[in-house]
Amino acid sequence: MQRRLIATAVLTLAATCAVSSLPAHAAPRAVQATVTTQLPRTAVPRHYDVALTPDAQAGTFAGKVTITLDVVQGTRTITLNAADLAFQRAAITQGGGAALAATASVDDAAQTATFTFARTLAPGRYQLALDYTGVIGTQAAGLFSLDYQTKEGKQRALYTQFENSDARRMIPSWDEPSYKATFTLAAIVPAAEMAVSNMPVASRTVLPDGRARVVFAPTPKMSTYLLFFGLGDFERATLKAEGTELGVVTRKGGSSQAAFALEQSAILLKEYNDYFGVRYPLPKLDNIAAPGRSQFFGAMENWGAIFTFEYAMLLDPLISTQEDRQEVFVTAAHEMAHQWFGDLVTMAWWDDLWLNEGFASWMESRMTERLHPEWQTALSIVGVHERAMRRDAVATTHPVVQHVATVEQASQAFDDITYMKGESVIRMLENHVGETAWKKGVRAYMKQHKYGNTVSNDLWTSIEKAAGKPVKAIAHDFTMQPGVPLVRVGVPVCSSGDTVVTLTQAEYSRDQPERKPLAWRVPVVAQTLGSTAQARTVINKGQATLRVPGCGALVVNAGQNGYYRTVYAPAAFDALSVQFPALAPVDQLGLLSDTWALGLSGQAPAANLLELAAGTPEDANPQVWSKLTGIFMQIHALYGEDSPRRQRFDDYATARLAPVLARIGWDADEGEATPVASLRADLIEALGALQHTPTLGEAQRRYLALQRDPASVPAALRQPVLAVVARSNDVPGWAALRAAAKNEKSPMARDQLYLLLATADDKGLSERALELALTDEPGATNSAAMVARVAQHAPELAFDFAVANMEKMNARIDESSRSRFFPGLATHSGNPDMIGKLQRYAAANLAEGSRRDAETAAAEIRDRIKVRQARLPEIDGWLVRHAK
Ligand SMILES: [Zn+2]
Repeated sequence: MQRRLIATAVLTLAATCAVSSLPAHAAPRAVQATVTTQLPRTAVPRHYDVALTPDAQAGTFAGKVTITLDVVQGTRTITLNAADLAFQRAAITQGGGAALAATASVDDAAQTATFTFARTLAPGRYQLALDYTGVIGTQAAGLFSLDYQTKEGKQRALYTQFENSDARRMIPSWDEPSYKATFTLAAIVPAAEMAVSNMPVASRTVLPDGRARVVFAPTPKMSTYLLFFGLGDFERATLKAEGTELGVVTRKGGSSQAAFALEQSAILLKEYNDYFGVRYPLPKLDNIAAPGRSQFFGAMENWGAIFTFEYAMLLDPLISTQEDRQEVFVTAAHEMAHQWFGDLVTMAWWDDLWLNEGFASWMESRMTERLHPEWQTALSIVGVHERAMRRDAVATTHPVVQHVATVEQASQAFDDITYMKGESVIRMLENHVGETAWKKGVRAYMKQHKYGNTVSNDLWTSIEKAAGKPVKAIAHDFTMQPGVPLVRVGVPVCSSGDTVVTLTQAEYSRDQPERKPLAWRVPVVAQTLGSTAQARTVINKGQATLRVPGCGALVVNAGQNGYYRTVYAPAAFDALSVQFPALAPVDQLGLLSDTWALGLSGQAPAANLLELAAGTPEDANPQVWSKLTGIFMQIHALYGEDSPRRQRFDDYATARLAPVLARIGWDADEGEATPVASLRADLIEALGALQHTPTLGEAQRRYLALQRDPASVPAALRQPVLAVVARSNDVPGWAALRAAAKNEKSPMARDQLYLLLATADDKGLSERALELALTDEPGATNSAAMVARVAQHAPELAFDFAVANMEKMNARIDESSRSRFFPGLATHSGNPDMIGKLQRYAAANLAEGSRRDAETAAAEIRDRIKVRQARLPEIDGWLVRHAK
């Protein structure tokens, strides 16, 4: 799955510290979800023959399934997963013999159905036939509907979302990843609509009543969570690549906006066929675009039928930016990587979810760097580390490989550790064994385990064999224990033309810096400025001495492939600080990232960051300026309410950022580098938030032009201009924006405008946005996103509102996200009262094993309070010392 990434602005990122998928509550179901998800191992499914008759308007469906299964141990009962299903008939047959009826009993809490027979079933092959009915939801779990506006009126389309454990809402099944089976899906649908599934349509028959019966070809052996069904007023565009039919499926009239996704999929397929050494095995691969959004995910890798929300797949020439274009590519690259890592080879259980998500995340970065070097995304690895380490440095973190006991814990596993730390660790290990050996190991792993299930050690075994050197021990250190190593760099000594330095391993921690550090074997790469030769070592048992060619300033973690923080002895830091502009951009980013993180945790002086900022020239790499802009906005947010202290910092930040914007200008130069466009958007939003008068004026001027002629403002500027105006909106301005949202016919543009209504700084307008979120006006999938957006600048307001309206709120959140959504609202707070509120909320609404997101949000709040008290005075002091 692709996690939902908030694709706007540094402002958002700074204020929220880049937490992506917004977490929280739980319905009564969640409270009961402490039961194990494991089923009795007495029977194994081999094939599902499923026939569905959905009634989209009524929100219900009828289903029939015949499951071919092997009873492996004599039993009188068969238990499988089922949720919100009602059974009308259940019978089992063997070899065409007489049917033996069963009584069905459903356990809502365990999400199971048990069928009991009059006599014991001896081991052997059987057919279990079930007739049942189920529910079509309005949030993305199980079979669900999405409504959208067109010029002709309201339309409704159906889709499915089964990961991690929601196939059981559509098909009674062994809904665990290791029970792989084949599926044949059939559906009775309105004849005018298009039905899509994992496999191509095998037959389509128009029935006497005018409906059509569509039967899809049988799937290969696969896990239940990868099955897909979609139905609606769709259109499909295709092209043939590598012998596979690639398709994009959109609402009618939308396929031209999917042209980029389609064409890039063809390029990706060729790369992946080559990289994995096993060809994509299905005859077709569709990417299905759906309007709206989920609080939980952006896209899903159903085998042969990827599901993607429109904002991450379609490009609208009027509103889509360069970042949107990159997101379309990255999303397709992520989901297509899963067609191998996840679909062809699947983790045995959710403990090893990172094998899916860490790999798909690593692959998406790799493919972007390789196929779109013009986007200059290689530097983004520092941002990936940053997000992972931020989460990994509080006590509520967990190892990459973790024990998952319940459905809800599986859902919570889709987090920054699984995705970002997973990606970071893979990158580090690939760097350690070398690209060629790594690829050889991955190919062997694919070949050996295709159509099967694995655990992490299966991968390490393949990599070690290919690399001919040990990797398991390092891999275990970084995946089986939590936390972030900290490498302390001693005072470098120049000796015979080399730099000799002692490295000591400690631990980077935000909330327990005094704790005895865990131990890691840490692969380290170091380089001196002015030399191209690198030195490598693995820190073992806490310490290593390293001899690095050359005698310039010393960069540890050169290239930033290692998953650890680096802290330098003051003399070594000063040498780097003085030479900052001469460092490679990736190392500038790494140094900024570590310096600020360690400044916040108190493991280095906070003002070191401002020393580096002072040494950053106006023409530094645009991504370095984007990073600094983000950090400045984080500091701005840390100061909280308006005050003379905050004003002093804002003046400083404005004085640094305004000349950079003036230098690159509001209008793009032809052929400018892609990161410049992103920096421009970041600077406009930041300077708007800092109340920089010329920026506010220019944004207003362009906004008025946009009202007169949507084509007058380039798509790249539309979002930052709207963001600045929406943030500073007054009552009439807000009402005008709402009217524009209401009249907008493009679902993507409409969603954007409703979210902007939730960004106004004005408290009264925030309250109006919250009220509006719970009406039918914005559309069922925008509500939770609007409340989450308010929480970014007014967390107490949003949290209190959501708790007070819990029932309505829950109806508008994906069921699997409920235990994460509410803590997500609170996480931006710096108010000590919020911790108590959060604890009361968790105690009343969350199962004991499902409170990690709530505890992590509380840790974030405590950290913010501590940083305000202990670290901001260092920033104040530096500003006073450097006042002109
Ligand atoms: Zn994924």
